[in-house]
Amino acid sequence: MGVPSAIEINAWLNEGGLVVTASERAARALTEAFHRARQAEGLSAWPAPNILDWMSFVRGAWEERTADGRLLLNPAQEQSLWEAIAGESRHMATLLAGPRHRLAAMAMEAHERLCAYAPRLLKNTARSSWQRDAAAFSAWLTAFDEACRAGNLLSPARLPLELIALLEDSSSPDERPPLLLAGFDRILPVQRSLFDAWGEWHEPDPGEPSRIHFEEASDAQAELAACALWCERQLAAQPRSRLLVVTQDATARRGEIERAFLKHTGSARLPLFEFSLGIPLSQVALARGAHLLLRWLSGPLAEHELDWLLSTGQAAADAEESMALASSMRALRRRGLERTHWFLAAFISQSPDKMLPDAWVNRMMEAKNHLAEFAHRSQSPLDWAELVPRLLEAAGWPGARPLSSAEFQAAHRWQQAVETAGSLGFDGRRIPWREFLSVLTRTLDEILFVPESHDAPIQITGPAESAGLTADAVWFLGANEDSWPASGPTHPLLPPEVQREAGMPHATPQLDWDLAQAITTRLRTVAPEVHFSFACQNEGLETRPSRLIAQLAGSPQPLPTDLATQPAAPPLTVASGDSSRIPFPPGKAEGGSSVLTYQSQCPFKAFATARLAARGWERAQAGLTASQRGQLLHAVLHAVWGGPPEGIRTLKELENLGDRSAFVAAHVHRALQAEIRPGLRARMPQRYLELEEQRLTRLVREWLDYEATRLDFKVIETEVDRTIQPAGLTLKLRLDRIDRLNDNSLLVIDYKTGQVSTKSWDPPRPDDVQLPLYASFALDPDEELGGLVFAKVRPGDRAFEGRVGDAKATLLANLSGNSNLVKNSLTAEQLIDWRKSIEQLARDFVAGRAEVDPREAPKTCERCGLQTLCRIQEHQAPIETGDDSDGEEENDE
Ligand code: SF4
Repeated sequence: MGVPSAIEINAWLNEGGLVVTASERAARALTEAFHRARQAEGLSAWPAPNILDWMSFVRGAWEERTADGRLLLNPAQEQSLWEAIAGESRHMATLLAGPRHRLAAMAMEAHERLCAYAPRLLKNTARSSWQRDAAAFSAWLTAFDEACRAGNLLSPARLPLELIALLEDSSSPDERPPLLLAGFDRILPVQRSLFDAWGEWHEPDPGEPSRIHFEEASDAQAELAACALWCERQLAAQPRSRLLVVTQDATARRGEIERAFLKHTGSARLPLFEFSLGIPLSQVALARGAHLLLRWLSGPLAEHELDWLLSTGQAAADAEESMALASSMRALRRRGLERTHWFLAAFISQSPDKMLPDAWVNRMMEAKNHLAEFAHRSQSPLDWAELVPRLLEAAGWPGARPLSSAEFQAAHRWQQAVETAGSLGFDGRRIPWREFLSVLTRTLDEILFVPESHDAPIQITGPAESAGLTADAVWFLGANEDSWPASGPTHPLLPPEVQREAGMPHATPQLDWDLAQAITTRLRTVAPEVHFSFACQNEGLETRPSRLIAQLAGSPQPLPTDLATQPAAPPLTVASGDSSRIPFPPGKAEGGSSVLTYQSQCPFKAFATARLAARGWERAQAGLTASQRGQLLHAVLHAVWGGPPEGIRTLKELENLGDRSAFVAAHVHRALQAEIRPGLRARMPQRYLELEEQRLTRLVREWLDYEATRLDFKVIETEVDRTIQPAGLTLKLRLDRIDRLNDNSLLVIDYKTGQVSTKSWDPPRPDDVQLPLYASFALDPDEELGGLVFAKVRPGDRAFEGRVGDAKATLLANLSGNSNLVKNSLTAEQLIDWRKSIEQLARDFVAGRAEVDPREAPKTCERCGLQTLCRIQEHQAPIETGDDSDGEEENDE
């Protein structure tokens, strides 16, 4: 069925007719087109057009003809009724709330299909032969009917049937205005019956179909880019044109589509495109903020949720408060107090003194205490819904800043969602706060939010949602064999033969074909220019063109060259090369050796961490983090080699230990007691800490066994503080350990629990300068350097790795000639090279060199964590994030 033209609609309305559209969106589009036409005629005022969508039409007509006082259920109320009925059946799938809720949604949909396609099956007796799941649904339907009768309730799906009966009983059909239908791709059986009972109704002329252009692109990205470019060209040639982009993937590919259209049409103040499909309200910032705040008043938030809440300003009254909250969160993490989940009280009590604004603390505590007055008891969802705005107001949501138009609309939808959750009190139930919050969570997920249309010239919509829309040109994306006609499963709660017989969606391939054909035909009549396109490859798989479109348009043609090869899009921002450098003022740089390691890895990383105090965000863990484990190991080895009275200093003392295991176990026990703060300890199960203690004891014991195979040595110092000044840059270092070897030279040792390699020391851009820096600048110049080594203390992998002057003679006599320590000895040239390269890095840092220039992208960036600050991903292919660093370089300050 085509869409009536503006002239046709105007004439129809002038003669007292009524226009009924298939959807709310179509009614809105036709109403807007009607208003535009009146404005174009130069009118300043005119009566509102009589254009209604199907459900509003049915409901209005029913309400005019009945006054029986039944409550018309809203979707949330109806679903909760189905849920209660399904729950009583004790079916396996209904035992848990989540599956029960989904099953209730399916039952509700099955009921709607019966009402629309096969109302005769609403009678119990007509369903007596149904088996298995269909039989279970049939029993629920019987219970549903009884519940509606007993509670004086009515499902909206029954309204058309009720209205048909009322119309058929009525004796004055001539008083009804004739109907003109718009945007119905198919008329359902119940709709046809109702229109017939109504009296006079018309379908618009199908109109003359346009010729279809059918084009193929190499892949989905090229197809989307060609479509966006085509829209740009159309608007450049005809700025007042209205374009319709139809895609079945508008939800899944929303971000990708937005980027493509912004690239080609994004220079205007308002985007030149808009989506007709909304996003769940739970994903809209304002609603998400309110929901998290409510949850936080009575329970914990995951750390990433809390970080989002505080950093987006959703929990703050103004920008200053927002900054203070975000700083407080950062301070907690800097002190190692991160948690996987945060209760409000814990967050307030743990935050460093004076960091949280008093006004914020008072508001949040007032809201929390206010909720606590009620939270211990069950009450009606209506009462909870009334409490919500009071709680949010007490907490200061949504702050004092003025809301944008979209935020204002979101706040309005939020209030509607709260009222919907509250409407579940229709049956007199009383529920605890926690359950009300679950209902609200589901409601927010189910409500779609579409900001008010700004009448953008490009409308992006789905095939069914495009019903009723007209345009100057249409582009349909994704016309491949698998997607168009769109297929889908039959309904699992209705017998397949019933669905086939009634012609329900997806019951047969022919039905899918007929519907796709009807939509295609409609699209051909709504615009003089219509393009269908498909991608030859999708996610690496070959795809074939839609047979339906090929039948109408012939084989697809390659995209026109001017759409296939895209000229460089004009940049949205003007690049401004900033080559200025801000020298580092005299003084100490925070970060120790890592400052120069980062300067080598990526100058911006050094600048951001040492001068801006930027840090990557590591998720809090339920157990000890890699960094905490590394610190514990360092503490134990520091104590072991710290000398008398508790520790030892020499190989001889190590060999003379009576019970090495007991010696290590005592040190590990003391270290765990001293290093794990009471707050952290209280959050971890006792058994976990015992296992951690056993693991660390075993690891250190194995390491000491390995050290016992060394040639004679003496530990000179552990955890040694040094202040150095390479090229005038002051750095404070902490060396893990310095040994004196049997030839009187010094060995610098650094403990590592992760993977390490001496390749990382190689100039010109070393990946790690820590040990070369110690060796070059931190030792007494009168001492001879015998070597520098990583001590790899890893389960099953204990070894020294590094450069030693004569490793076989001074470190381990049993080394083979092939070992790296023997093959790659320490040389004077190496020391000179390292020194030069380190001094250059220090000069670069002091001079303010801060380019975003990763040493080996994307590998260097993968363990950095500053991507959101340097925005490297805007210039490069996506990078997987991850970090296996154990934070051992953070020994230095
Ligand atoms: S993410 Fe990469 S480019 Fe950005 S600062 Fe880190 S290393 Fe440099």
